[in-house]
Amino acid sequence: MMFVFTEDYGNPSSIHWFGQQAKAIVDEARIEVARLINSEASEIVFLSGGTEADNFAIRGIAESQKAKGRHIITSKIEHHAVLHTCKDLEKQGYEVTWLPVSRDGVVDPDDVRRAIRSDTILISVMHANNEIGTIQPVEEIGVIAEEANVYFHSDGVQSTGKIPVDVKKLKVDLYSISAHKIHGPKGAGALFVKKGSIVKPLLTGGGHERNRRSGTENVAGISGFGQAAKMAREELPSGMARVQMLRDRLESGLKAKIDLIHVNAEHAPRLPNTSNIMVDYAEGEGLVISLDLKGVAVSTGSACSSGSLEPSHVLTAIGKTPDEAHGSLRFSLSAMNTDEDVDYVLDVLPGIVERLRELSPYYKQA
Ligand code: PLP
Repeated sequence: MMFVFTEDYGNPSSIHWFGQQAKAIVDEARIEVARLINSEASEIVFLSGGTEADNFAIRGIAESQKAKGRHIITSKIEHHAVLHTCKDLEKQGYEVTWLPVSRDGVVDPDDVRRAIRSDTILISVMHANNEIGTIQPVEEIGVIAEEANVYFHSDGVQSTGKIPVDVKKLKVDLYSISAHKIHGPKGAGALFVKKGSIVKPLLTGGGHERNRRSGTENVAGISGFGQAAKMAREELPSGMARVQMLRDRLESGLKAKIDLIHVNAEHAPRLPNTSNIMVDYAEGEGLVISLDLKGVAVSTGSACSSGSLEPSHVLTAIGKTPDEAHGSLRFSLSAMNTDEDVDYVLDVLPGIVERLRELSPYYKQA
């Protein structure tokens, strides 16, 4: 990225040498991102991140397939980039089936099968949830979508780089990825678009990215994304096994040290790095602020929507009351976390919870 910022000022669309040098950087990154999810390089469309990838996939199919139908199937626990896009399409006359999830936060593929109609044009079910980490049965849904000849999009922003992803095996037509979730730069992402898919571009212009996404490429961001994808692929098997050990130790340690806490979706297939913990009789915002003062960065609900006091739609979809949802904390670990980090949280959180509970009239009654 530094080379692009400081030395390589070429535009990848220019035929001169400077441009071609920049194009080579983009092409190299495209190969790396494709390798991470086992696609062809030509099936990777670079864009500004997960939000744009989700919008492009959903709006692009809705627009290109509207002569066939206007029915879309998605789940109640999608990221807002999918949720709000589908809600917007509802206002435009599309009909959306919102699939429920189990109490463990998983979509039932049979519900997908039952929801399909002759006018269904798209199924969009995320690969892994950003708040509770649950992994959805994407491979099974892929089979159902293929049999029904319906486009299948999956938001893979959280799963990519944390669990093995093979878009061929998953049978997805469209798959969203974001660079910053794999330690790449913010503001870069990609949509996998299976060869032959008809997706109307969001942007009109110079026809970049094989006419799928106009606009001069963010060469520095893409270059960082490519490097992050390479590192994620190389480090995934060993790195994530260690992260899972840290996460499991964090969860069992907290359960041993603090009464009345629960791990949300504990028994569902989950990402190795995510832990969503519900602390009874302690307010989530208070926990986040107190942990922040100790140098520990966590969130309640989705980081993307924090600042909002609405209870998380994901936690309410798995049957939590608004109060329970407000008392939930999300820890996201990475390969850069250490045993000492876990020990530190196990050391500081019990005291914080105790202090907050002292302020709760309900805890005293319990
Ligand atoms: N989808 C999921 C599941 C996410 O977790 C996020 C961000 O947290 C996004 C989409 C949006 O990605 P971006 O921040 O790159 O726009």
